[in-house]
Amino acid sequence: MEATRKRLVILGAAESGVGAALLGKKEGWDVFVSDGGKLKDAFRAVLTEQNIAFEEGGHNLEKILDADCLVKSPGVSEKVAIMKKVREAGIEVCSEIEFGYRYKGNSRIIAITGSNGKSTTTKLTFDTLKNAGYDVAMVGNIGYSFARQIAERPCEWYVMEVSSFQLDDIHSFRPDVAVLLNITPDHLDRYDYKFENYVASKFRITQNQNITDHFVVNQDDEVIKEYLATHSIHAKIIYFTMNETNMGNEGGHIHDSRLFIQVDGDTTDMSIHDLAIKGKHNQYNSMAAGISARIAGVRKEKIRESFIGFEGLEHRLEYVATVRGVEFVNDSKATNVNSVWFALESMKKPVILILGGQDKGNDYNEIMALVREKVKAIVCLGADNKPIHDAFDNVVPTIVDTNISSDAVHAAYALAENGDVVLLAPACASFDLFENYEDRGRQFKEAVKNL
Ligand code: ADP
Repeated sequence: MEATRKRLVILGAAESGVGAALLGKKEGWDVFVSDGGKLKDAFRAVLTEQNIAFEEGGHNLEKILDADCLVKSPGVSEKVAIMKKVREAGIEVCSEIEFGYRYKGNSRIIAITGSNGKSTTTKLTFDTLKNAGYDVAMVGNIGYSFARQIAERPCEWYVMEVSSFQLDDIHSFRPDVAVLLNITPDHLDRYDYKFENYVASKFRITQNQNITDHFVVNQDDEVIKEYLATHSIHAKIIYFTMNETNMGNEGGHIHDSRLFIQVDGDTTDMSIHDLAIKGKHNQYNSMAAGISARIAGVRKEKIRESFIGFEGLEHRLEYVATVRGVEFVNDSKATNVNSVWFALESMKKPVILILGGQDKGNDYNEIMALVREKVKAIVCLGADNKPIHDAFDNVVPTIVDTNISSDAVHAAYALAENGDVVLLAPACASFDLFENYEDRGRQFKEAVKNL
């Protein structure tokens, strides 16, 4: 009965678009996928194999405007011409997590957002549930898309990494546990350069929650605090903080180098020195993951065990090697100033900092004090290093320019002395010289191995 089938159009054919297409097909929609650019071979192969209609390298307006529902991939900006037409036509637009949500059945969702720490916290929470024997999948920006996971192997629990773009077009999406790690300026180009739009987008994670749901938030984040002071939240709020004033309350805090998690009147605690991932930022991530796992019912011992054994993720403060007393650390994923702040904060040795790439309008004042205190030299690694010189020429005695990883590593090694650390934490996107941050991190590691 072809004529009665509802038509699902998907804009963008990467992980989330293809996931939505697979789920749409499975649920009986007449699916059409359209991508203005060229598809990756792997995604083209899936669509072809599944007999899903698609186009690439342009949009057929007629086929798109025929949609009953349109799934917009997170990479597609509201500003592109095709989206204007879709909006004018009054077509229902939803993001891939919204579409997936409609078919999630009785499963439960822990959704994690924030400007920094999403992937780390998602993986740590997922590992903790998995080690405790839960039927759980890790979805979103890390791993399979939510929709694809539901289409191919539905689970009882989903731990989901959610970006602000995915939250922009939700209508009913309602996680059982929502986590908001922090909010610092990022992606402002997609939000009309208005920070408040980006903030509102992050808070959408809780918009459909009610008092039976949990909203786990960072109490030390000024932006979050300000928003909460002026908006009402329907979920049960659980805070985590470095501040000891929270002692005795439900939530997470750090006291005397111990991490405490209190949920439902029950306390889990462990030494921060036993956490496998280091740095203050990872204490925040661990509190958020621990609270979420406790809400999900994971036993304390399992949480401790998972936190001690957690391997961390590649390109996030990843130890690479020590060469003649000089340590090399790959934090290629530090693509904004705030993540560099936490990277520097966690460094115990004098630092040679490799910085630069595609500038997102960075304000380096945020890291100025830490740079003065810890950074001996800066090695710029970018196509245009002017913003770095402008910020640091009068602060750091030695600044050199490079535009290829091997040169950057050699320059940093030459400047380093026994006992120093060379830290790749660029504060910038990688697209000026590299395919992506993974490529930048891998080239860095390769160059270190070749020293
Ligand atoms: P995301 O998925 O949000 O980009 P990641 O876990 O991939 O987060 O980490 C991105 C960068 O931010 C890395 O450089 C990491 O060391 C740093 N980082 C991780 N957690 C936090 C946090 N809670 N606050 C600030 N920076 C963080």
